[in-house]
Amino acid sequence: MTGQLISSSLGKQILGRLQSRQGDIETFIRALVEIESPSGDESGSAAVVELLATTARGVSSVDSVEAVKVPGFGQHLVIKAFQQAEAGQVLIVGHTDTVHSLGSLAERPWRREAGRIYGPGIFDMKANCALAIEILRTLSELNLKPRFGVTVVLTCDEEVGSASGWPLIERFAKETQARCAFVMEPPALGGRVKTGRKGTGIYTIKVEGKAAHAGLEPEKGASAILELARQTERLHALNLSGSGITLNVGVVHGGTRSNVVAAQAEGEIDVRFSTEAESEEIHRILSSVQPVDERTKVFVSGGINRPPMERTPAVVELFEKARSVASYLDFELGEAQVGGASDGNFIAALGVPVLDGLGISGDGAHAVHEHIEADDIARRGALIAGLLLSV
Ligand SMILES: [Zn+2]
Repeated sequence: MTGQLISSSLGKQILGRLQSRQGDIETFIRALVEIESPSGDESGSAAVVELLATTARGVSSVDSVEAVKVPGFGQHLVIKAFQQAEAGQVLIVGHTDTVHSLGSLAERPWRREAGRIYGPGIFDMKANCALAIEILRTLSELNLKPRFGVTVVLTCDEEVGSASGWPLIERFAKETQARCAFVMEPPALGGRVKTGRKGTGIYTIKVEGKAAHAGLEPEKGASAILELARQTERLHALNLSGSGITLNVGVVHGGTRSNVVAAQAEGEIDVRFSTEAESEEIHRILSSVQPVDERTKVFVSGGINRPPMERTPAVVELFEKARSVASYLDFELGEAQVGGASDGNFIAALGVPVLDGLGISGDGAHAVHEHIEADDIARRGALIAGLLLSV
C-alpha cells in the first residue's frame, strides 16, 4: 500500500462528477431494485446480471465482463477494468442476491422520501452494485487511471452462505494477486467502515442421560436435559470473560414425555471470536467439555466455519488512507468491528487486507424499512474512487 494519496482538489472533482450524475445513478439503482433477485432465483439473477453487464460494457475502461452460471441457482458477474502490466489488482466484492422473497417489491415499491430511498435489497446491496460500475465510469470519463487493475466480483449466493461465490472470490484473489479488497457490504451505523469482523463457528452439544419414571423412581434416572442446562450455563459464562468470544446455545431439543427423566438432549451453539487465537481457545474448550453429572455423557461436534477478519496493521493503514480521502471530501469516516461475518472474512484469511462496509449509508438491511441515504451515493463513490487512486 505505497501509493500516494490523491489531492483534495482531485477528490472534489470526482465528487462533483458523481453528483452531476445523481439522477442517472438513481435510475440505474431503481432498475436493479425493480428486478427481484432473492438467492436461488435463477431468472431474477440472470436479469440483474444482464443489466449490470450491459451497463459495464458501456464504460470505456472496462476490459472484460463475464457472467459465471451456477446451474439452478443464478449467475455471478466478474468485471475487469484498467487492466495493465503491473502485477496485483484491487478486488471489489459484492453480491446481487437479496433476502427479500418474490413479491416484496409489490408490497414495498421504490419510494424516495426526505432524502431516503426505500426498496427491497437497496441497502444490502443493489445500490452498491450500481455504484461499483459508476465508480469505474467516473474514473474513465475523467481520464484517471488507478495504479492497479480493478476486478469487480459480484456473487449471487452471498445471503445463503457463498457456497459457489466464495471459491470464485478466492480464485480471483489469488489469480490477480490482490493487493487489497474493498467489500461493498452496508456500513455500520453512521457510515462507519468495518475494519474487523468476528469469525464464526457452529457446534452441536449432545447429552446422553438415563431414562427413568419421573414419579416412581427418579433417582434411577440421569436427566440429559438437566445436564444440558448446566452445560449451557457454563458455556454462556464464557461470554462474561471480557474476550472477543461470544457463545450462544440458540436451539435445544430433548426428552420424550414430561413424566420420563430425559435420556437425551441436544443444543446448537453459535460461537464468534475476534482472533485466530480465540478460535483455537474456543475449539479447545468445546473439545474438552466434561459432564457435571458423571452418569451422563456429553459429546460436542462441529467447528469453525468462517475465520475472523482481524484488524491487522495493513488494514489499519488502508483505513487511515480512506479516512484521509474522506476528509478531503469534507466528511469524517469512522470504523467499527462487528460480530457478523461476510465474504471479507474469507478474503482476509488469504492475507489480503480488507476494508469492509464500504457501501452507501442507510439502514434496515434484511428488514422492511431498508433504505439508503441519497446524498451519500456520490460521497461513497468518490471515497472508493479516491481510494482506488491512492493504493
Ligand atoms: Zn450483504
